[in-house]
Amino acid sequence: MSSFEELGLRRELLDTLLALGYEAPTPIQERTIPRLLAGRDLIGQAQTGTGKTAAFALPILEKVDPKLRDTQALVLTPTRELAMQVAEAIHTYSQKLGHVSVLPVYGGAPIVPQLKRLERGAVIVVGTPGRIIDHLDRGSLDLSKLRVVVLDEADEMLKMGFIDDVEKILSASPGERQTALFSATMPDEVLRIAKRHLRNPERVEIEHKAIHAPAIEQRFLNVSEGQKLEVLTKILELEPAEAVLIFRRTKTGSAELAEKLEARGFAAVAMHGDMTQPLRESVIRRLRAGQVDIVVATDVAARGLDVEQIEHVINYDIPYDVEAYVHRIGRTGRAGRSGVATLFITPRERKMMREIERYTGTPIKPMKMPTRADLAAKRVQIFKENIRKTIQEGDLDLYLELVEQLAEEGPFDIAEVAAAAARIANGSRTLAVAAEPPAAAPPPPIESDKTITMMMSVGKREGIRPADIVGSIANEANIPGRDIGPIEIRDEVTYVGIPERYVEIVTEKVGKKRFRGRALNLRVAGKVPPERRDTGDKFKPRGEFKPRGEFKPREKYKPREKYAPRGAKPRNDFTPRHSKKRGA
Ligand code: AMP
Repeated sequence: MSSFEELGLRRELLDTLLALGYEAPTPIQERTIPRLLAGRDLIGQAQTGTGKTAAFALPILEKVDPKLRDTQALVLTPTRELAMQVAEAIHTYSQKLGHVSVLPVYGGAPIVPQLKRLERGAVIVVGTPGRIIDHLDRGSLDLSKLRVVVLDEADEMLKMGFIDDVEKILSASPGERQTALFSATMPDEVLRIAKRHLRNPERVEIEHKAIHAPAIEQRFLNVSEGQKLEVLTKILELEPAEAVLIFRRTKTGSAELAEKLEARGFAAVAMHGDMTQPLRESVIRRLRAGQVDIVVATDVAARGLDVEQIEHVINYDIPYDVEAYVHRIGRTGRAGRSGVATLFITPRERKMMREIERYTGTPIKPMKMPTRADLAAKRVQIFKENIRKTIQEGDLDLYLELVEQLAEEGPFDIAEVAAAAARIANGSRTLAVAAEPPAAAPPPPIESDKTITMMMSVGKREGIRPADIVGSIANEANIPGRDIGPIEIRDEVTYVGIPERYVEIVTEKVGKKRFRGRALNLRVAGKVPPERRDTGDKFKPRGEFKPRGEFKPREKYKPREKYAPRGAKPRNDFTPRHSKKRGA
Protein backbone atom coordinates (compact mmCIF):
# COMPACT_ATOMS: atom_id res chain seq x y z
CA MET A 1 0.00 0.00 0.00
CA SER A 2 1.32 3.43 -0.86
CA SER A 3 0.91 6.70 0.98
CA PHE A 4 -0.98 9.80 -0.06
CA GLU A 5 2.38 11.57 -0.54
CA GLU A 6 3.35 9.09 -3.23
CA LEU A 7 0.20 9.79 -5.19
CA GLY A 8 1.38 13.28 -6.05
CA LEU A 9 -1.10 15.40 -4.12
CA ARG A 10 -0.10 18.88 -3.02
CA ARG A 11 0.85 19.79 0.54
CA GLU A 12 -2.42 21.49 1.48
CA LEU A 13 -4.45 18.44 0.52
CA LEU A 14 -2.07 16.12 2.35
CA ASP A 15 -2.42 18.27 5.45
CA THR A 16 -6.19 18.10 5.16
CA LEU A 17 -6.16 14.32 4.88
CA LEU A 18 -3.89 14.15 7.90
CA ALA A 19 -6.27 16.34 9.85
CA LEU A 20 -9.20 14.15 8.80
CA GLY A 21 -7.37 11.15 10.14
CA TYR A 22 -6.99 9.27 6.84
CA GLU A 23 -3.99 7.00 7.17
CA ALA A 24 -3.53 5.61 3.71
CA PRO A 25 -5.28 5.71 0.35
CA THR A 26 -7.89 3.05 -0.27
CA PRO A 27 -7.24 0.68 -3.20
CA ILE A 28 -9.45 2.67 -5.59
CA GLN A 29 -7.78 5.94 -4.55
CA GLU A 30 -4.34 4.44 -4.98
CA ARG A 31 -5.07 3.51 -8.56
CA THR A 32 -7.27 6.40 -9.63
CA ILE A 33 -5.63 9.52 -8.23
CA PRO A 34 -2.29 9.36 -10.10
CA ARG A 35 -4.07 8.67 -13.39
CA LEU A 36 -6.49 11.55 -12.96
CA LEU A 37 -3.67 13.86 -11.93
CA ALA A 38 -1.89 12.87 -15.15
CA GLY A 39 -4.91 14.06 -17.10
CA ARG A 40 -6.23 10.69 -18.24
CA ASP A 41 -9.88 9.92 -18.83
CA LEU A 42 -10.94 7.06 -16.64
CA ILE A 43 -13.60 4.43 -16.02
CA GLY A 44 -13.61 3.35 -12.41
CA GLN A 45 -15.55 0.39 -11.17
CA ALA A 46 -16.26 1.18 -7.55
CA GLN A 47 -19.18 1.55 -5.25
CA THR A 48 -20.05 3.41 -2.12
CA GLY A 49 -17.75 2.61 0.74
CA THR A 50 -14.62 2.17 -1.36
CA GLY A 51 -13.55 5.79 -0.96
CA LYS A 52 -14.45 6.68 -4.55
CA THR A 53 -15.59 10.21 -3.69
CA ALA A 54 -12.14 11.27 -2.53
CA ALA A 55 -10.71 9.40 -5.52
CA PHE A 56 -12.17 12.00 -7.87
CA ALA A 57 -12.63 14.93 -5.48
CA LEU A 58 -8.92 15.29 -4.66
CA PRO A 59 -7.80 15.41 -8.33
CA ILE A 60 -10.60 17.91 -9.08
CA LEU A 61 -9.26 20.15 -6.34
CA GLU A 62 -5.78 19.90 -7.88
CA LYS A 63 -7.12 21.00 -11.23
CA VAL A 64 -9.43 23.92 -10.56
CA ASP A 65 -8.26 27.47 -10.05
CA PRO A 66 -10.36 29.03 -7.31
CA LYS A 67 -9.31 32.52 -8.33
CA LEU A 68 -11.28 32.19 -11.56
CA ARG A 69 -15.01 32.36 -11.07
CA ASP A 70 -15.82 30.04 -13.97
CA THR A 71 -17.35 26.66 -13.39
CA GLN A 72 -14.40 24.37 -13.98
CA ALA A 73 -15.61 21.04 -12.68
CA LEU A 74 -18.96 19.29 -12.86
CA VAL A 75 -19.97 16.16 -10.99
CA LEU A 76 -23.21 14.43 -12.01
CA THR A 77 -24.94 12.23 -9.46
CA PRO A 78 -28.18 10.23 -9.65
CA THR A 79 -29.78 11.59 -6.48
CA ARG A 80 -29.93 14.80 -4.52
CA GLU A 81 -28.73 12.94 -1.43
CA LEU A 82 -25.56 11.91 -3.22
CA ALA A 83 -25.14 15.40 -4.70
CA MET A 84 -25.22 16.87 -1.21
CA GLN A 85 -22.80 14.28 0.15
CA VAL A 86 -20.34 14.74 -2.67
CA ALA A 87 -20.51 18.55 -2.44
CA GLU A 88 -19.92 18.32 1.29
CA ALA A 89 -16.99 15.95 0.83
CA ILE A 90 -15.36 18.25 -1.75
CA HIS A 91 -15.91 21.19 0.55
CA THR A 92 -14.25 19.31 3.41
CA TYR A 93 -11.25 18.36 1.29
CA SER A 94 -10.86 21.98 0.12
CA GLN A 95 -10.47 23.37 3.68
CA LYS A 96 -6.84 24.36 3.35
CA LEU A 97 -7.00 25.64 -0.22
CA GLY A 98 -8.63 28.95 0.50
CA HIS A 99 -12.17 29.52 -0.65
CA VAL A 100 -13.29 27.10 -3.36
CA SER A 101 -16.97 27.52 -4.10
CA VAL A 102 -18.76 24.19 -4.38
CA LEU A 103 -22.43 24.30 -5.28
CA PRO A 104 -24.85 21.39 -5.05
CA VAL A 105 -27.67 21.76 -7.57
CA TYR A 106 -30.61 19.37 -7.50
CA GLY A 107 -34.28 19.13 -8.27
CA GLY A 108 -36.90 19.50 -5.58
CA ALA A 109 -35.17 22.55 -4.09
CA PRO A 110 -36.24 26.09 -4.98
CA ILE A 111 -34.41 27.27 -8.05
CA VAL A 112 -34.04 30.95 -7.19
CA PRO A 113 -31.31 30.59 -4.54
CA GLN A 114 -29.46 28.29 -6.95
CA LEU A 115 -29.71 30.94 -9.66
CA LYS A 116 -28.27 33.54 -7.30
CA ARG A 117 -25.42 31.29 -6.27
CA LEU A 118 -24.63 30.43 -9.87
CA GLU A 119 -24.69 34.11 -10.72
CA ARG A 120 -21.97 34.70 -8.13
CA GLY A 121 -19.94 31.89 -9.64
CA ALA A 122 -19.40 28.29 -8.58
CA VAL A 123 -16.05 26.73 -9.34
CA ILE A 124 -17.33 23.20 -8.78
CA VAL A 125 -20.94 22.23 -9.44
CA VAL A 126 -22.36 18.93 -8.20
CA GLY A 127 -25.82 18.10 -9.40
CA THR A 128 -28.50 15.80 -10.67
CA PRO A 129 -28.83 15.71 -14.46
CA GLY A 130 -32.41 17.03 -14.66
CA ARG A 131 -31.70 20.19 -12.72
CA ILE A 132 -28.42 20.79 -14.54
CA ILE A 133 -30.37 20.68 -17.83
CA ASP A 134 -32.85 23.19 -16.37
CA HIS A 135 -29.99 25.57 -15.66
CA LEU A 136 -28.48 25.03 -19.09
CA ASP A 137 -31.86 25.82 -20.68
CA ARG A 138 -32.18 28.97 -18.59
CA GLY A 139 -28.67 30.00 -19.44
CA SER A 140 -27.78 30.18 -15.76
CA LEU A 141 -24.99 27.60 -16.00
CA ASP A 142 -22.08 27.99 -18.38
CA LEU A 143 -20.14 24.84 -19.12
CA SER A 144 -17.74 26.35 -21.64
CA LYS A 145 -14.87 26.58 -19.12
CA LEU A 146 -15.21 23.04 -17.77
CA ARG A 147 -11.95 21.18 -17.26
CA VAL A 148 -13.27 18.07 -15.56
CA VAL A 149 -16.54 16.16 -15.68
CA VAL A 150 -17.26 13.25 -13.36
CA LEU A 151 -20.18 10.86 -13.71
CA ASP A 152 -20.76 9.32 -10.32
CA GLU A 153 -22.84 6.13 -10.04
CA ALA A 154 -23.38 6.06 -13.80
CA ASP A 155 -25.33 2.80 -13.61
CA GLU A 156 -27.80 4.36 -11.17
CA MET A 157 -28.27 7.37 -13.45
CA LEU A 158 -29.02 4.96 -16.25
CA LYS A 159 -31.57 3.04 -14.18
CA MET A 160 -33.30 6.24 -13.23
CA GLY A 161 -33.75 7.26 -16.82
CA PHE A 162 -31.24 10.11 -16.76
CA ILE A 163 -29.11 8.81 -19.57
CA ASP A 164 -30.42 11.18 -22.26
CA ASP A 165 -29.84 14.12 -19.95
CA VAL A 166 -26.33 12.93 -19.18
CA GLU A 167 -25.54 12.66 -22.88
CA LYS A 168 -26.93 16.12 -23.50
CA ILE A 169 -24.76 17.58 -20.75
CA LEU A 170 -21.64 15.82 -22.01
CA SER A 171 -22.33 17.06 -25.53
CA ALA A 172 -22.68 20.59 -24.19
CA SER A 173 -19.28 20.43 -22.46
CA PRO A 174 -16.07 21.48 -24.19
CA GLY A 175 -14.23 18.77 -26.09
CA GLU A 176 -10.98 19.59 -24.31
CA ARG A 177 -11.98 18.33 -20.92
CA GLN A 178 -11.13 15.40 -18.75
CA THR A 179 -13.88 12.90 -18.02
CA ALA A 180 -14.11 10.23 -15.34
CA LEU A 181 -16.94 7.77 -15.01
CA PHE A 182 -17.58 5.78 -11.84
CA SER A 183 -20.04 2.94 -11.67
CA ALA A 184 -20.57 -0.06 -9.40
CA THR A 185 -21.59 -2.20 -12.36
CA MET A 186 -20.70 -1.84 -16.02
CA PRO A 187 -23.78 -2.59 -18.12
CA ASP A 188 -23.37 -2.19 -21.90
CA GLU A 189 -25.14 1.11 -21.95
CA VAL A 190 -22.70 2.63 -19.47
CA LEU A 191 -19.82 1.37 -21.57
CA ARG A 192 -21.44 2.85 -24.67
CA ILE A 193 -21.59 6.26 -23.03
CA ALA A 194 -17.94 5.89 -22.05
CA LYS A 195 -17.04 5.01 -25.61
CA ARG A 196 -18.85 8.00 -27.03
CA HIS A 197 -17.70 10.61 -24.53
CA LEU A 198 -14.39 9.53 -23.00
CA ARG A 199 -11.04 9.78 -24.76
CA ASN A 200 -8.98 6.65 -24.59
CA PRO A 201 -10.04 5.98 -21.01
CA GLU A 202 -8.10 3.83 -18.62
CA ARG A 203 -10.17 1.26 -16.86
CA VAL A 204 -9.60 0.83 -13.15
CA GLU A 205 -11.24 -1.90 -11.24
CA ILE A 206 -10.25 -3.43 -8.01
CA GLU A 207 -10.03 -7.06 -8.89
CA HIS A 208 -11.17 -9.36 -6.25
CA LYS A 209 -9.77 -12.78 -6.26
CA ALA A 210 -11.99 -15.20 -4.45
CA ILE A 211 -10.49 -15.19 -0.98
CA HIS A 212 -11.26 -17.39 1.93
CA ALA A 213 -12.76 -15.99 5.06
CA PRO A 214 -11.65 -17.78 8.22
CA ALA A 215 -14.07 -20.31 9.60
CA ILE A 216 -15.66 -18.11 12.21
CA GLU A 217 -19.17 -16.91 12.81
CA GLN A 218 -19.88 -13.82 10.70
CA ARG A 219 -22.94 -11.66 11.23
CA PHE A 220 -24.23 -8.22 10.40
CA LEU A 221 -26.56 -5.63 11.83
CA ASN A 222 -28.35 -2.86 9.93
CA VAL A 223 -27.77 0.40 11.76
CA SER A 224 -27.71 4.07 10.99
CA GLU A 225 -24.53 6.02 11.64
CA GLY A 226 -26.17 7.62 14.68
CA GLN A 227 -27.20 4.30 16.23
CA LYS A 228 -23.79 2.69 16.09
CA LEU A 229 -22.44 3.72 19.48
CA GLU A 230 -25.50 2.68 21.43
CA VAL A 231 -25.75 -0.65 19.63
CA LEU A 232 -22.06 -1.27 20.16
CA THR A 233 -22.20 -0.70 23.91
CA LYS A 234 -25.16 -3.06 24.18
CA ILE A 235 -23.32 -5.79 22.29
CA LEU A 236 -20.20 -5.31 24.41
CA GLU A 237 -22.20 -5.62 27.57
CA LEU A 238 -24.32 -8.55 26.42
CA GLU A 239 -21.43 -10.54 25.04
CA PRO A 240 -18.46 -9.92 27.28
CA ALA A 241 -15.34 -11.25 25.61
CA GLU A 242 -11.80 -11.61 26.79
CA ALA A 243 -10.53 -9.29 24.09
CA VAL A 244 -12.43 -7.32 21.44
CA LEU A 245 -10.98 -5.63 18.38
CA ILE A 246 -13.05 -2.83 16.84
CA PHE A 247 -12.21 -1.37 13.43
CA ARG A 248 -12.64 2.23 12.34
CA ARG A 249 -11.63 3.87 9.10
CA THR A 250 -9.80 6.87 10.47
CA LYS A 251 -7.34 7.68 13.24
CA THR A 252 -9.62 10.35 14.61
CA GLY A 253 -12.52 7.91 14.53
CA SER A 254 -10.56 5.32 16.46
CA ALA A 255 -9.39 7.81 19.09
CA GLU A 256 -12.89 9.23 19.57
CA LEU A 257 -14.59 5.87 19.88
CA ALA A 258 -12.04 4.58 22.40
CA GLU A 259 -12.64 7.69 24.48
CA LYS A 260 -16.41 7.32 24.37
CA LEU A 261 -16.18 3.68 25.41
CA GLU A 262 -13.89 4.56 28.28
CA ALA A 263 -16.33 7.21 29.42
CA ARG A 264 -18.96 4.48 29.51
CA GLY A 265 -16.87 2.30 31.76
CA PHE A 266 -15.24 -0.04 29.28
CA ALA A 267 -11.52 -0.73 29.38
CA ALA A 268 -10.86 0.48 25.84
CA VAL A 269 -7.87 2.05 24.08
CA ALA A 270 -7.19 3.31 20.58
CA MET A 271 -4.47 2.05 18.27
CA HIS A 272 -3.73 3.99 15.11
CA GLY A 273 -1.00 5.12 12.77
CA ASP A 274 -0.18 8.29 14.71
CA MET A 275 1.03 6.26 17.65
CA THR A 276 4.67 5.31 17.85
CA GLN A 277 5.62 1.69 17.52
CA PRO A 278 6.51 1.30 21.24
CA LEU A 279 3.14 2.80 22.16
CA ARG A 280 1.32 0.38 19.89
CA GLU A 281 3.29 -2.50 21.30
CA SER A 282 2.34 -1.52 24.80
CA VAL A 283 -1.34 -1.56 23.77
CA ILE A 284 -0.92 -5.08 22.46
CA ARG A 285 0.84 -6.17 25.66
CA ARG A 286 -1.96 -4.74 27.78
CA LEU A 287 -4.55 -6.52 25.65
CA ARG A 288 -2.71 -9.83 26.04
CA ALA A 289 -2.37 -9.33 29.78
CA GLY A 290 -6.06 -8.56 30.16
CA GLN A 291 -5.44 -5.00 31.33
CA VAL A 292 -7.58 -3.70 28.50
CA ASP A 293 -10.54 -5.50 26.97
CA ILE A 294 -11.13 -3.49 23.84
CA VAL A 295 -8.82 -2.04 21.20
CA VAL A 296 -10.24 0.37 18.64
CA ALA A 297 -7.90 0.17 15.68
CA THR A 298 -7.46 1.37 12.12
CA ASP A 299 -6.57 -1.06 9.35
CA VAL A 300 -3.03 0.24 9.13
CA ALA A 301 -2.32 -0.07 12.84
CA ALA A 302 -3.84 -3.52 13.13
CA ARG A 303 -1.77 -5.01 10.36
CA GLY A 304 0.06 -8.02 11.69
CA LEU A 305 -1.67 -7.79 15.04
CA ASP A 306 -1.76 -11.27 16.48
CA VAL A 307 -3.37 -11.65 19.86
CA GLU A 308 -4.78 -15.05 20.65
CA GLN A 309 -7.27 -13.73 23.15
CA ILE A 310 -9.28 -11.78 20.55
CA GLU A 311 -12.70 -13.40 20.56
CA HIS A 312 -14.66 -10.76 18.72
CA VAL A 313 -13.91 -8.45 15.80
CA ILE A 314 -16.38 -5.63 15.25
CA ASN A 315 -16.42 -3.78 11.94
CA TYR A 316 -17.82 -0.51 13.27
CA ASP A 317 -17.05 1.10 9.92
CA ILE A 318 -17.26 -1.15 6.89
CA PRO A 319 -13.84 -1.91 5.31
CA TYR A 320 -12.92 -0.53 1.88
CA ASP A 321 -12.72 -3.83 0.14
CA VAL A 322 -13.03 -7.56 0.50
CA GLU A 323 -9.36 -8.09 1.29
CA ALA A 324 -9.44 -5.62 4.16
CA TYR A 325 -12.51 -7.40 5.53
CA VAL A 326 -10.84 -10.79 5.45
CA HIS A 327 -7.71 -9.40 7.10
CA ARG A 328 -9.75 -7.78 9.82
CA ILE A 329 -11.83 -10.79 10.76
CA GLY A 330 -8.79 -13.03 10.56
CA ARG A 331 -7.62 -11.39 13.82
CA THR A 332 -10.05 -13.59 15.72
CA GLY A 333 -10.44 -17.34 15.95
CA ARG A 334 -6.69 -17.78 16.36
CA ALA A 335 -4.98 -20.84 17.77
CA GLY A 336 -8.03 -23.01 17.42
CA ARG A 337 -10.24 -20.73 19.48
CA SER A 338 -13.73 -19.78 18.51
CA GLY A 339 -14.31 -16.28 17.23
CA VAL A 340 -17.09 -13.98 16.06
CA ALA A 341 -17.06 -11.13 13.56
CA THR A 342 -19.78 -8.49 13.54
CA LEU A 343 -20.33 -6.00 10.72
CA PHE A 344 -22.29 -2.76 11.06
CA ILE A 345 -24.05 -1.88 7.82
CA THR A 346 -25.61 1.48 7.06
CA PRO A 347 -28.29 1.51 4.35
CA ARG A 348 -25.97 2.70 1.60
CA GLU A 349 -23.43 -0.02 2.30
CA ARG A 350 -25.54 -3.09 1.57
CA LYS A 351 -24.07 -3.60 -1.88
CA MET A 352 -20.64 -3.63 -0.36
CA MET A 353 -21.65 -6.44 1.97
CA ARG A 354 -23.06 -8.49 -0.91
CA GLU A 355 -19.72 -8.04 -2.63
CA ILE A 356 -17.91 -9.34 0.43
CA GLU A 357 -20.19 -12.36 0.59
CA ARG A 358 -19.73 -13.05 -3.10
CA TYR A 359 -15.96 -13.01 -3.01
CA THR A 360 -15.49 -14.88 0.24
CA GLY A 361 -18.19 -17.38 -0.64
CA THR A 362 -19.51 -17.30 2.91
CA PRO A 363 -22.82 -15.80 3.98
CA ILE A 364 -22.86 -13.13 6.64
CA LYS A 365 -25.89 -13.79 8.78
CA PRO A 366 -28.30 -11.19 10.12
CA MET A 367 -28.00 -10.64 13.84
CA LYS A 368 -30.82 -9.78 16.20
CA MET A 369 -30.78 -6.15 17.27
CA PRO A 370 -29.96 -6.13 21.00
CA THR A 371 -32.67 -4.51 23.09
CA ARG A 372 -32.81 -2.87 26.47
CA ALA A 373 -34.80 -5.83 27.72
CA ASP A 374 -31.87 -8.08 26.76
CA LEU A 375 -29.61 -5.77 28.74
CA ALA A 376 -31.85 -5.80 31.78
CA ALA A 377 -31.95 -9.60 31.74
CA LYS A 378 -28.19 -9.74 31.38
CA ARG A 379 -27.59 -7.40 34.30
CA VAL A 380 -29.89 -9.39 36.53
CA GLN A 381 -28.15 -12.59 35.49
CA ILE A 382 -24.74 -11.16 36.32
CA PHE A 383 -25.93 -9.84 39.64
CA LYS A 384 -27.30 -13.22 40.60
CA GLU A 385 -24.13 -14.93 39.50
CA ASN A 386 -22.06 -12.60 41.66
CA ILE A 387 -24.19 -13.35 44.70
CA ARG A 388 -24.06 -17.11 44.11
CA LYS A 389 -20.33 -16.96 43.65
CA THR A 390 -19.90 -15.02 46.86
CA ILE A 391 -21.97 -17.60 48.73
CA GLN A 392 -19.88 -20.43 47.29
CA GLU A 393 -16.67 -18.72 48.26
CA GLY A 394 -17.89 -18.82 51.86
CA ASP A 395 -16.28 -16.73 54.58
CA LEU A 396 -19.66 -15.13 55.31
CA ASP A 397 -20.00 -15.96 59.02
CA LEU A 398 -19.79 -12.38 60.18
CA TYR A 399 -22.44 -11.25 57.69
CA LEU A 400 -24.71 -14.20 58.41
CA GLU A 401 -24.66 -13.24 62.03
CA LEU A 402 -25.52 -9.64 61.16
CA VAL A 403 -28.43 -10.62 58.93
CA GLU A 404 -29.82 -12.95 61.55
CA GLN A 405 -29.53 -10.28 64.22
CA LEU A 406 -31.39 -7.77 62.01
CA ALA A 407 -34.16 -10.27 61.33
CA GLU A 408 -34.48 -11.14 65.00
CA GLU A 409 -34.66 -7.53 66.03
CA GLY A 410 -37.48 -7.12 63.48
CA PRO A 411 -39.76 -5.98 62.15
CA PHE A 412 -38.14 -7.22 58.92
CA ASP A 413 -37.82 -10.74 57.74
CA ILE A 414 -34.66 -12.23 56.27
CA ALA A 415 -35.73 -11.67 52.65
CA GLU A 416 -36.19 -7.94 53.24
CA VAL A 417 -32.85 -7.67 54.95
CA ALA A 418 -31.20 -9.50 52.07
CA ALA A 419 -32.94 -7.25 49.53
CA ALA A 420 -31.72 -4.12 51.28
CA ALA A 421 -28.19 -5.49 51.40
CA ALA A 422 -28.40 -6.37 47.71
CA ARG A 423 -29.44 -2.84 46.87
CA ILE A 424 -26.51 -1.40 48.79
CA ALA A 425 -24.14 -3.81 47.08
CA ASN A 426 -25.47 -2.97 43.65
CA GLY A 427 -24.87 0.72 44.18
CA SER A 428 -26.46 3.07 41.70
CA ARG A 429 -26.37 0.71 38.74
CA THR A 430 -29.69 0.14 37.05
CA LEU A 431 -30.88 -3.42 36.94
CA ALA A 432 -34.23 -2.66 35.40
CA VAL A 433 -33.76 -0.93 32.08
CA ALA A 434 -36.33 1.45 30.63
CA ALA A 435 -38.25 0.10 27.66
CA GLU A 436 -36.93 0.83 24.20
CA PRO A 437 -37.95 4.19 22.83
CA PRO A 438 -40.18 3.79 19.78
CA ALA A 439 -37.13 3.03 17.73
CA ALA A 440 -36.61 3.99 14.16
CA ALA A 441 -36.63 0.43 12.92
CA PRO A 442 -34.27 -0.25 10.06
CA PRO A 443 -36.13 -0.49 6.76
CA PRO A 444 -37.39 -4.02 6.12
CA PRO A 445 -35.66 -5.92 3.35
CA ILE A 446 -36.98 -5.05 -0.07
CA GLU A 447 -38.29 -8.55 -0.75
CA SER A 448 -40.79 -8.42 2.08
CA ASP A 449 -42.13 -5.00 1.21
CA LYS A 450 -45.58 -4.80 -0.34
CA THR A 451 -45.92 -2.73 -3.51
CA ILE A 452 -48.70 -0.18 -3.37
CA THR A 453 -50.23 1.10 -6.59
CA MET A 454 -50.27 4.88 -6.71
CA MET A 455 -51.85 6.95 -9.44
CA MET A 456 -51.38 10.39 -10.90
CA SER A 457 -53.57 12.61 -13.02
CA VAL A 458 -51.24 12.89 -15.98
CA GLY A 459 -50.70 10.36 -18.73
CA LYS A 460 -50.01 9.92 -22.45
CA ARG A 461 -51.95 13.11 -23.14
CA GLU A 462 -49.25 15.11 -21.38
CA GLY A 463 -46.50 13.04 -22.95
CA ILE A 464 -45.09 11.70 -19.68
CA ARG A 465 -42.47 8.94 -20.03
CA PRO A 466 -41.40 6.22 -17.58
CA ALA A 467 -38.03 7.93 -17.18
CA ASP A 468 -39.76 11.18 -16.11
CA ILE A 469 -41.72 9.27 -13.50
CA VAL A 470 -38.85 7.21 -12.07
CA GLY A 471 -36.42 10.10 -12.25
CA SER A 472 -38.63 12.62 -10.52
CA ILE A 473 -39.98 10.31 -7.82
CA ALA A 474 -36.54 8.93 -7.05
CA ASN A 475 -35.09 12.40 -6.84
CA GLU A 476 -37.79 14.26 -4.99
CA ALA A 477 -38.41 11.52 -2.45
CA ASN A 478 -34.80 10.41 -2.43
CA ILE A 479 -35.50 6.71 -2.87
CA PRO A 480 -33.70 4.20 -5.13
CA GLY A 481 -34.99 4.26 -8.71
CA ARG A 482 -34.90 0.48 -8.92
CA ASP A 483 -37.60 0.22 -6.26
CA ILE A 484 -40.08 2.13 -8.40
CA GLY A 485 -42.48 0.25 -10.69
CA PRO A 486 -44.33 -1.29 -12.42
CA ILE A 487 -45.51 1.74 -14.40
CA GLU A 488 -48.60 1.84 -16.56
CA ILE A 489 -49.18 5.02 -18.54
CA ARG A 490 -52.78 5.45 -19.75
CA ASP A 491 -54.25 8.36 -21.69
CA GLU A 492 -55.14 10.54 -18.75
CA VAL A 493 -53.70 8.77 -15.74
CA THR A 494 -50.61 6.82 -14.82
CA TYR A 495 -50.25 4.00 -12.31
CA VAL A 496 -46.97 3.40 -10.56
CA GLY A 497 -45.98 0.80 -8.00
CA ILE A 498 -44.21 2.11 -4.90
CA PRO A 499 -42.92 -0.02 -1.98
CA GLU A 500 -45.24 0.47 0.96
CA ARG A 501 -42.60 1.99 3.20
CA TYR A 502 -42.03 4.84 0.74
CA VAL A 503 -45.68 5.70 0.09
CA GLU A 504 -45.82 8.35 2.75
CA ILE A 505 -42.66 10.17 1.71
CA VAL A 506 -43.55 9.92 -1.98
CA THR A 507 -47.01 11.38 -1.31
CA GLU A 508 -45.49 14.18 0.71
CA LYS A 509 -42.65 15.06 -1.63
CA VAL A 510 -44.14 14.39 -5.06
CA GLY A 511 -47.92 14.47 -4.50
CA LYS A 512 -48.41 18.15 -5.28
CA LYS A 513 -45.75 18.52 -7.96
CA ARG A 514 -46.65 19.42 -11.54
CA PHE A 515 -45.75 17.98 -14.89
CA ARG A 516 -45.93 20.31 -17.91
CA GLY A 517 -48.18 22.58 -15.92
CA ARG A 518 -50.61 19.91 -14.78
CA ALA A 519 -50.90 18.88 -11.13
CA LEU A 520 -49.78 15.29 -10.65
CA ASN A 521 -52.12 14.63 -7.71
CA LEU A 522 -50.04 11.57 -6.95
CA ARG A 523 -51.88 9.45 -4.40
CA VAL A 524 -52.61 5.87 -3.46
CA ALA A 525 -54.89 4.51 -6.18
CA GLY A 526 -58.51 4.36 -5.08
CA LYS A 527 -58.20 7.35 -2.76
CA VAL A 528 -59.78 10.67 -3.58
CA PRO A 529 -57.12 13.17 -4.60
CA PRO A 530 -56.59 15.68 -1.79
CA GLU A 531 -57.59 18.64 -3.97
CA ARG A 532 -61.08 17.30 -4.46
CA ARG A 533 -61.70 16.08 -0.95
CA ASP A 534 -64.25 18.21 0.81
CA THR A 535 -62.90 18.69 4.29
CA GLY A 536 -65.50 21.29 5.16
CA ASP A 537 -62.67 23.38 6.50
CA LYS A 538 -62.01 25.89 3.82
CA PHE A 539 -59.59 28.04 5.73
CA LYS A 540 -57.17 25.35 6.67
CA PRO A 541 -53.84 26.30 5.15
CA ARG A 542 -52.68 23.75 2.64
CA GLY A 543 -49.68 21.63 3.40
CA GLU A 544 -49.85 22.30 7.10
CA PHE A 545 -47.70 19.91 9.10
CA LYS A 546 -49.81 17.51 11.06
CA PRO A 547 -47.94 15.33 13.51
CA ARG A 548 -48.90 11.72 13.25
CA GLY A 549 -50.68 10.14 16.16
CA GLU A 550 -47.87 7.84 17.13
CA PHE A 551 -45.18 10.47 17.16
CA LYS A 552 -43.59 10.66 20.56
CA PRO A 553 -40.54 12.62 21.56
CA ARG A 554 -37.60 10.33 21.97
CA GLU A 555 -36.90 9.41 25.49
CA LYS A 556 -33.60 10.78 26.64
CA TYR A 557 -30.98 8.11 27.02
CA LYS A 558 -29.77 8.02 30.56
CA PRO A 559 -26.24 6.75 30.79
CA ARG A 560 -25.71 4.45 33.67
CA GLU A 561 -23.01 5.10 36.17
CA LYS A 562 -19.76 3.47 35.36
CA TYR A 563 -20.78 -0.12 35.09
CA ALA A 564 -17.91 -2.40 34.44
CA PRO A 565 -19.13 -5.17 32.19
CA ARG A 566 -16.08 -7.07 33.23
CA GLY A 567 -17.95 -8.24 36.29
CA ALA A 568 -19.17 -11.12 34.19
CA LYS A 569 -15.77 -12.59 33.73
CA PRO A 570 -13.68 -12.21 36.80
CA ARG A 571 -10.09 -11.73 35.79
CA ASN A 572 -8.55 -12.77 39.01
CA ASP A 573 -9.94 -16.21 39.31
CA PHE A 574 -7.25 -18.80 38.99
CA THR A 575 -8.49 -20.74 36.04
CA PRO A 576 -5.67 -20.78 33.54
CA ARG A 577 -6.68 -18.63 30.63
CA HIS A 578 -6.20 -21.27 27.96
CA SER A 579 -8.26 -23.95 29.57
CA LYS A 580 -11.16 -21.55 29.98
CA LYS A 581 -12.38 -21.70 26.42
CA ARG A 582 -11.62 -25.24 25.50
CA GLY A 583 -14.53 -27.54 25.16
CA ALA A 584 -16.88 -24.63 25.70
P1 AMP B 1 -17.16 6.75 -0.32
O1 AMP B 1 -16.90 5.36 -0.82
O2 AMP B 1 -16.60 7.78 -1.21
O3 AMP B 1 -18.64 6.96 -0.07
O4 AMP B 1 -16.39 6.95 1.07
C1 AMP B 1 -16.73 6.21 2.21
C2 AMP B 1 -16.16 6.80 3.50
O5 AMP B 1 -14.77 6.56 3.60
C3 AMP B 1 -16.32 8.29 3.67
O6 AMP B 1 -16.86 8.49 4.95
C4 AMP B 1 -14.92 8.87 3.61
O7 AMP B 1 -14.77 9.96 4.47
C5 AMP B 1 -14.07 7.71 4.06
N1 AMP B 1 -12.75 7.65 3.43
C6 AMP B 1 -12.46 7.84 2.12
N2 AMP B 1 -11.14 7.66 1.89
C7 AMP B 1 -10.58 7.33 3.07
C8 AMP B 1 -9.25 7.00 3.48
N3 AMP B 1 -8.24 6.97 2.62
N4 AMP B 1 -9.05 6.72 4.79
C9 AMP B 1 -10.08 6.73 5.66
N5 AMP B 1 -11.34 7.02 5.34
C10 AMP B 1 -11.61 7.32 4.07
